[in-house]
Amino acid sequence: MRDDDSSPPASRPAVHRGPLAAAVALAAVCLTAGCGGGGGQAGPAAGQVSPGSGAQDGPSSPVPPAAGSPSAASLAPVGSSAEPPPGGPLSGRTVVIDPGHNPDNRDHTREISRQVDIGTGRKECDTTGTATGSGYAEALFTLDVSRRLRTLLRAQGAEVVLTQDGDRAFGPCVDERARIGNEARADAVVSVHADGSAAGDRGFHVILPAAVRGGAADTSGIVAASRDLGERIAGKFVRATGSSPSNYIGGNTGLDTRGDLGGLNLSTVPKVFIECGNMRDPDDAALLMSADWRGRAAAGIAEGISSYLKR
Ligand SMILES: [Zn+2]
Repeated sequence: MRDDDSSPPASRPAVHRGPLAAAVALAAVCLTAGCGGGGGQAGPAAGQVSPGSGAQDGPSSPVPPAAGSPSAASLAPVGSSAEPPPGGPLSGRTVVIDPGHNPDNRDHTREISRQVDIGTGRKECDTTGTATGSGYAEALFTLDVSRRLRTLLRAQGAEVVLTQDGDRAFGPCVDERARIGNEARADAVVSVHADGSAAGDRGFHVILPAAVRGGAADTSGIVAASRDLGERIAGKFVRATGSSPSNYIGGNTGLDTRGDLGGLNLSTVPKVFIECGNMRDPDDAALLMSADWRGRAAAGIAEGISSYLKR
């Protein structure tokens, strides 16, 4: 779901609380699904500024997953290799892909519920994410799309780093997810998610960083570039997947702006989130569970990133 942060981990069911107003319902779903950044659409937060809680001193163990780990290798399409080909159009560029959540977060609820400093406040280290009605976990979806994306971008010569590759017991925490992009001096970072909103809510949206400042958070240097990145991804995603922009967030633009996500607030490099669809809607879920569709989703995101890097 719209995530990175917040919401307790959960074994709680991701049910929609029908009679509530839309914004409240969305927030509630985020909480129950354990995926949201908190606040749902109630706090789009353009220009949101909060005093923050002092210097960032979260744990530091930025360990980018090793390229070519067993799980990566087993899922990489034939012909992909860890090393980008020389001379590709994205040669010399670094892209960090952040697969939202972690399939094993559900077994580490205590660890991921630890509060971390996101500059403008504190939030849970990570969340479990949502799932389709049939039990396909968002964390598996995000890993699959991210690995496809890595293959596509490497084929164009980019250096690609995943923040996790199914190779960690839980997390990383949202502050570390941001730090991995920062320390890689990434030219672009995309955090991959799928939403957990109410049935009937359909389509994708890209989440852009709001202008925030507080503690270790200062997005002033990345707001404009991230918007450019996000708009290109949204445009290419529509063409690649045939999906429509969200009918419940962003006024049909496919874009939302948030100031409550640690993964964006702490980024010093251009970064966006994409919610590829709504796992709690049966029609969207059918798309998200289709390997063919996930391939098209990855292609759309890759084309957006590529377009941004070649601008
Ligand atoms: Zn998510």
